[in-house]
Amino acid sequence: MTVLENVSLKEFNTFGVDAKASLFTSVNNQLELQKALKDPRFKNPFLIGGGSNLLFVNSISHPVIHINIGGIQIIDENDDSVIVSVGAGVKWHDLVMWALKNNYAGIENLALIPGNTGTAPIQNIGAYGAELKDVFYNLIAVSLEDYSTHIFDENDCEFGYRDSKFKNEWMHQYAITTVRLLLQKNNHFVNTQYGDIEKILAQKNISNPSIYDVAEAVMEIRKNKLPDPKVLGNSGSFFKNPIVSKEKIDALLQEHSNLPHYEFTNEFYKIPAGWLIEKSGLKGHREGNVGMHAQQALVLVNYGNATGKELWEFAQKVQYTVQQKFDITLDPEVNIIE
Ligand SMILES: Cc1cc2nc3c(=O)[nH]c(=O)nc-3n(C[C@H](O)[C@H](O)[C@H](O)COP(=O)(O)OP(=O)(O)OC[C@H]3O[C@@H](n4cnc5c(N)ncnc54)[C@H](O)[C@@H]3O)c2cc1C
Repeated sequence: MTVLENVSLKEFNTFGVDAKASLFTSVNNQLELQKALKDPRFKNPFLIGGGSNLLFVNSISHPVIHINIGGIQIIDENDDSVIVSVGAGVKWHDLVMWALKNNYAGIENLALIPGNTGTAPIQNIGAYGAELKDVFYNLIAVSLEDYSTHIFDENDCEFGYRDSKFKNEWMHQYAITTVRLLLQKNNHFVNTQYGDIEKILAQKNISNPSIYDVAEAVMEIRKNKLPDPKVLGNSGSFFKNPIVSKEKIDALLQEHSNLPHYEFTNEFYKIPAGWLIEKSGLKGHREGNVGMHAQQALVLVNYGNATGKELWEFAQKVQYTVQQKFDITLDPEVNIIE
């Protein structure tokens, strides 16, 4: 096991924050992970995957374990479907491309989401009308406490909107090592309902799209819409879209008749956080090295060498301003590591 000291995590987070880890190691399989966990120097570790959903506010006092477990394997199949077992360190988008190459359906709408497969269940990644939970079979996780191995299914994980038990009760308790997904070989359900997918397909005169066509459309939309973290440090949507009651929506509509809102469940509605930020006058607002992106109000951006502290203080100002204007609390989607 190679252990490094005083390592910069700049390359390990898409915000590009130069936080330091006092101790760092990278593990390539479950045995290496268990070995690291048993090492007293790595007690109470902080786990890192692709670093695309993290904001390091300060340097990390915990030892850092980078989960770099590879491998994509079919472990079961019938005429209609396959169960694919994926190492936690496999890049999510590489998995999407692998599935497309094999004509396995279910994750094409989730193309180009940054980060690793092992982290995808943590916030139940979602985009363009699809969520990880739609194809989830189960996962393997190692307890950080006693290094035991567990298999958790969908019920265990308690998936919700950008949420799971790993963000709540199980936070910092397990390291996910393998994720298994159930993908469809035939009779693909092609979901073109969301965003501009249909518009792009129409522009290309595609009337009977394949899963590959859908993935291409999603990639095109995402490339035009979201800033590339390699060019401009960011972590995608910084806040979750808030979910409010019907009474709250009715009250807001009195004042803002054009308020966009979508039914979430019977009594609750989702409001686009980007709209609230824009209407609070913060879209494109910049203070020094940090700001909300000019085209995507929901994306917090590191324009230069911003520190984690600067980014978090700015995000808190955004929360405060939206709270004052709309009496709505914006919760971060990104994991704030203080
Ligand atoms: C440009 C951009 C666009 C994005 N678009 C979307 C989108 O459309 N939809 C969406 O849902 N998300 C989106 N995201 C967020 C991000 O891609 C996802 O949340 C992704 O799943 C994070 O994966 P990661 O490997 O980078 O996680 P990391 O940032 O490395 O880690 C996230 C959390 O998981 C913990 N962790 C890391 N590895 C493990 C492990 N193996 N076991 C247990 N805990 C672990 C970490 O300690 C941390 O708390 C976007 C991000 C960016 C930068």
